[in-house]
Amino acid sequence: MNLTSFNPPRRILMGPGPSDISPQVLQAQSRPIIGHLDPLFVNMMDEIKALLQYAFQTTNQHTFAVSAPGSAGMETCFVNLVEPGDKVIVCINGVFGQRMLENVERCGGIAVVIEDAWGQPVSPAKVEQALQQHPDSKIVAFVHAETSTGVASDAQALCGLAKQHGCLSIVDAVTSVGGIPVLVDEWGIDAIYSGSQKCLSCVPGLSPVSFSPAAVEKLKGRKTKVQSWFLDQSLVMAYWSGEQKRSYHHTAPVTALYALHESLLMLHQEGLEQAWQRHAQQHALLAAGLDKLGLNLMVEIAYRLPQLNLVAVPEGVDEQAVRARLLNDYNLEIGAGLGQFAGKAWRIGLMGYAARQENVSLCLAALAEVLE
Ligand code: PLP
Repeated sequence: MNLTSFNPPRRILMGPGPSDISPQVLQAQSRPIIGHLDPLFVNMMDEIKALLQYAFQTTNQHTFAVSAPGSAGMETCFVNLVEPGDKVIVCINGVFGQRMLENVERCGGIAVVIEDAWGQPVSPAKVEQALQQHPDSKIVAFVHAETSTGVASDAQALCGLAKQHGCLSIVDAVTSVGGIPVLVDEWGIDAIYSGSQKCLSCVPGLSPVSFSPAAVEKLKGRKTKVQSWFLDQSLVMAYWSGEQKRSYHHTAPVTALYALHESLLMLHQEGLEQAWQRHAQQHALLAAGLDKLGLNLMVEIAYRLPQLNLVAVPEGVDEQAVRARLLNDYNLEIGAGLGQFAGKAWRIGLMGYAARQENVSLCLAALAEVLE
């Protein structure tokens, strides 16, 4: 075997994630390693916490980044908040809702499944009906931005219903934070997780999470131990928020956290509202351009995500061949359809640093040439 260093090409990432990363964030990741209990590092972690509180729009003290990808953020919420025998209303309208169900079952919870069609948002009416039929429910769990379909659900309405019925809410915001409004305190979200690699435009492998005081209460009142040692929040928080004195829990991914600090700083400097606007503007440009090419967006405008566009593959077009040509000839990655949309749709992402006009123009021009 002739082994050499790995030098990937420079691609433009317009798929469902990971998204493009600013050179500023990549540079931050190559800074010198310092100890993960070094006072300077601890100080940076405090800043990450404050920046995450801004990104989530929360004052929750229990806000930090899990040292693992979005799936671990999802597990963090379920293993800490679902005890064996707890009834959980799980909303499924795509791939990631299905994974929530897996989590509930593995925690020994009793799942009440609410299904909506792929390409549709979670129905608050169905959730309300389930809450009435199951007054012993403890949690309502749903995906805010379904990356498999490009659909946004009404997180505010769903969390409001959960609260009215005395339930906690668990919200998947992996694809939403940074791209569309996510207002944790205003909407009364109890447990939320995101991913570093989508609209936050950071390296993959970190999952910001936040727990409300009510979620922390539920954790403290558990009768059983959290089944995962690594994700047990009562242990992790001794490292992330041990006032003054931090104790070792695991070796933090030091350089990935430098990158997160930088990307959150960039989001703070741009301003959340401006970032949401940028995603909306680039989406409008993309939608208009696709329309000119005769390509249709499959999700209704009312609940379409600007950062994840589900595009119907025209009759007779080999969707895989188109993606391969975009990748090989233009260094441009777009995503394939998932599940029910496999072979029928492309997923064009406009996430974080990728949501820029030059990318939209390139994508439209490349698609026009390839489809010709
Ligand atoms: N939830 C949603 C909505 C996602 O889009 C993803 C990843 O695409 C995940 C969870 C899992 O995140 P990760 O792949 O970082 O583990």
